[in-house]
Amino acid sequence: MTSDQSWKEKYLQELESADRREKQWKVERNSLERMLVRTSLASEGQAPELDRLLAQLRKDLRNKELDVDAWRALQEQIDQQVALLDERIPAAVGGAGVVGTAPQGQAFSDDMPEANGVPGDARDITDNTNRLRIARRIGQLLGQLLNQVTLESGAEAQARRLQQALLSSNDWDELREGLNQVAELVIAAITRSQKEFEAFLKRVDERLQQLRGHFAEQSSAQADRLSASEALDREIREELERAGNQVRDSEDLHELKASVSQHLLSIGQALGRFRDQESEREKVLAEQLEVMQEKIAAMEAHSEQLQSDVKRERQRALTDLLTQLPNREAWQERLAFEFNRWQRYQGPLTVGVLDIDFFKRINDSYGHKAGDRVLQLISRELRERLRATDFIARFGGEEFMVLFPETTPDAAKLAMEKLRHHIGKLPFHFSGEPVQITFSAGLAAFRPGDTEEAVMDRADRALYQAKDDGRNRLVVDAESCDQ
Ligand code: GH3
Ligand code: MG
Ligand code: MG
Repeated sequence: MTSDQSWKEKYLQELESADRREKQWKVERNSLERMLVRTSLASEGQAPELDRLLAQLRKDLRNKELDVDAWRALQEQIDQQVALLDERIPAAVGGAGVVGTAPQGQAFSDDMPEANGVPGDARDITDNTNRLRIARRIGQLLGQLLNQVTLESGAEAQARRLQQALLSSNDWDELREGLNQVAELVIAAITRSQKEFEAFLKRVDERLQQLRGHFAEQSSAQADRLSASEALDREIREELERAGNQVRDSEDLHELKASVSQHLLSIGQALGRFRDQESEREKVLAEQLEVMQEKIAAMEAHSEQLQSDVKRERQRALTDLLTQLPNREAWQERLAFEFNRWQRYQGPLTVGVLDIDFFKRINDSYGHKAGDRVLQLISRELRERLRATDFIARFGGEEFMVLFPETTPDAAKLAMEKLRHHIGKLPFHFSGEPVQITFSAGLAAFRPGDTEEAVMDRADRALYQAKDDGRNRLVVDAESCDQ
């Protein structure tokens, strides 16, 4: 039956769409887990108990079976430990009044002598610098995390403010509060993804139940129709039999005529009743059909909405928010794709890794916003100046990757050199001063037997060679040259 097929198709489409959402959810969850591992590693070394809880957190993450309640309990323990740490470090960042700080690398302990440090001494400054460094790093990780998950707009704005505080505030109280909020944010994001997916499955299940109900009504209507038609059949047969008997037995023609017309009348009435019942049944079925058609239309609209949501979410998960370039996840996907193609066709395939020189100085001298602007401008140049078939991604921080399909290392070098000269001449101005921005890059090509990791590794080593040789230059990996 064609309507059966169309139901089946709808059902399969919903399943496929659910499948895609589950995959998407897994990608988000993976990246959240990675962020959490990195964040917890960055926070280590403050107190043994806290380190133990952070190790427990990473162990739970490896187990893959997420028990949100147990996690909340763990997070409360971590909060308590952080609060304990705060009691031991009453002073704010900025130099003044740090009392009883532990030597670098040594954890705090209860029996540690209090008030043995001179406020503002060299050790305080190192500790504060380290704390700030950690907060900045977590701020960056939070930024990457926010690019990959969807939060409600209110929560997103709040998380962005939190990220800004982590990246730029020097007020330790604010930073400490911010660090506490990061863990809560990660748990909230994971729980939210899970809930959304559950709600989606529930909706699909409800729709399927409605469909099942409709099929049941249809088949009972079909059964009613069958038994009504059997009853009519029986009634007519009996009436004809009675009429036949009377024709056989009757001797009076007049009486016979009256009896036959009575039988014909009864048959006519039975047919009329049947017709009325049939049209009533059809009316009910037509109404039901209309209701179902409306439901299908709503389901189709919802399914289209879901598909476009999934598409948008996926695009978002693969795009770096600051520069709008593909991000690290997108890079891994494309690299795997080009690697498979290269394995099959063996055309030249070159990888470039590009890192801005002394970028930290720009942040330090002109502020983080100026740094962000530089990243955006350089990304635009990369996008506009490389070929459309070359794939460019922001790999993290101020590091970019370029994939040159069907391109030898020599040809890729030529393209990168042009780009390097161009960017070196861009007229950047900060606080009225002209500033030159340069980058260094490493290039490596795929060779027989290569893996993706091996080539990325060689490109990375070539980049560090370029940095060692004085920056603002390109180095092509030696093994890739003698192809
Ligand atoms: P090198 O020439 O050796 O590469 O020096 P560098 O200063 O560029 O390298 P380093 O790795 O020491 O510093 C990278 C800096 O990039 C540190 C970090 O604060 C900054 N950074 C990373 N991500 C972002 C970002 O999204 N925005 C801004 N403004 N800065 C960022
Ligand atoms: Mg750099
Ligand atoms: Mg770097």
